[in-house]
Amino acid sequence: MITESKLLVFYDSKKPFRLSCDSSAYGVGAVISHVMKDGSERPIPFASRTLSETERRRNELTLEKGLLLWGMRVVIPDKFRGRLLLELHDEHLGTSRTKALARGYLWWPYLDRDIEDMVERCSACASTRNTPKESPLHPWIWASRPGQRVHIDYTEYKGQSFLVIIDSFSKWLKVMQVKSTTSSNTIEKLRTWFASVGIPEEIVSDNGPKFTSCEFQDFMKHSGVKHTLVPPYHPQSNGLAERGVQILKKSMKEARF
Ligand SMILES: [Zn+2]
Repeated sequence: MITESKLLVFYDSKKPFRLSCDSSAYGVGAVISHVMKDGSERPIPFASRTLSETERRRNELTLEKGLLLWGMRVVIPDKFRGRLLLELHDEHLGTSRTKALARGYLWWPYLDRDIEDMVERCSACASTRNTPKESPLHPWIWASRPGQRVHIDYTEYKGQSFLVIIDSFSKWLKVMQVKSTTSSNTIEKLRTWFASVGIPEEIVSDNGPKFTSCEFQDFMKHSGVKHTLVPPYHPQSNGLAERGVQILKKSMKEARF
């Protein structure tokens, strides 16, 4: 099916994409596809063929219909690298397992170094190493009712800031646009939200200044809310809010916000 050129689309940096590779001792196949709005995949460049006798024995650079191969591995163009790194990082496997995963399919100059740099900066990956944990993970107790624990986070979309609130029990998502991400704006939005649905028992946020200021801490205290701070970019701790942010961005794109 992928040989029908009308199914191919041009690379668009704004669209999600997926790289699928498959290889055996006898053949290699690789597709970089965009994931379209309806969830279907449309291939960009592609390659699929049987390897020659020589190729089965040698690692060499070959060009297949716009896709460069290094032996069995796809040589990834610059523009895809950052996003593929993020994909590789999705499961927080740590350095050696992420490298092993990449080596099966991908290659670019300094791939190993890029993986090391990325993993180095990640606290969730750090927790999979056999070193003492710097920041303990929060083993969340499963919420059994709405308002028991609520995760909040900020996100930006097209230059505008949004406060995202997600309830860990119902996964109910509330999004409010703010002029700027200050403590007082956050407080104002939360007040409005409390007035409509009630005050939650616990709020989880990252430890950014707008959430750690005296003003915000006082507000939490006076509202009787237990406030739990987690490190930013710590998906295992505030993953719910990050998931909320992803859902939000996806819906905004779909709605052509
Ligand atoms: Zn990680």
